[in-house]
Amino acid sequence: MNGHENVCALCYKGGELLWIPPLNDSVPGVWHCSQCVKKKILFGVHSVSEGVESIWDVPRRVRQRQYLVTYHGLAHIHNHWVPETQLLLEYSSLVSNFVEKDQAVKWSPEWMVPHRLLLKRYIQDKIYIASSDVISVCNYEWLVKWRGLSYDHATWELEDSYFLSSPLGQKLVKDYEIRCQKAKQEVNKGSIVKLSELPASQSLVNDNDVLKNVNKLREFLLKGQNAVAFNDQ
Ligand SMILES: [Zn+2]
Repeated sequence: MNGHENVCALCYKGGELLWIPPLNDSVPGVWHCSQCVKKKILFGVHSVSEGVESIWDVPRRVRQRQYLVTYHGLAHIHNHWVPETQLLLEYSSLVSNFVEKDQAVKWSPEWMVPHRLLLKRYIQDKIYIASSDVISVCNYEWLVKWRGLSYDHATWELEDSYFLSSPLGQKLVKDYEIRCQKAKQEVNKGSIVKLSELPASQSLVNDNDVLKNVNKLREFLLKGQNAVAFNDQ
């Protein structure tokens, strides 16, 4: 299995998500097709969100009342402070609900701190961004798990995001690469070490085919792939 069938959260186009490394579990995070990733790179992450999802906070002693808001499908690092007058135009019910209810969960700034990089996704359609004389290109998206939030809240972030080029971000990239390296070594080690005979509990079955299948299963297991063997004898 090399990829996953997915539906883009914005335009609902289907597509295959390529993984590095391949993964068999369901896809966490909001997935976007390559066209919408292009939009995200050119116009910013908020261009691929369907708008304000929730209000978290009010404080800030400013002349105009403001709210801290989270956007659909976006991590808390992309939250904005929005003036009440602006928010009331489209999200008056969110505003009135927020005023009425006591916030059971208090917003935490640690939700904006990357905790772990889970996966790396290659962006197939390259986009070159020219600013002054420099032409840069964003090659990858990272699936980021955030501090204090579960894996369900992991989000895909462009590799040129400022929080990934920070010292912490760079450390997380290194950690990811080390984990991948280790996993690769495990797979290589596993495929070389072949059993010369079956474990003691099964030694009554002296069959070369069974031994071959057991070795094959061990290989799949080490690579994290699913496998089923049938023995109808
Ligand atoms: Zn799309």
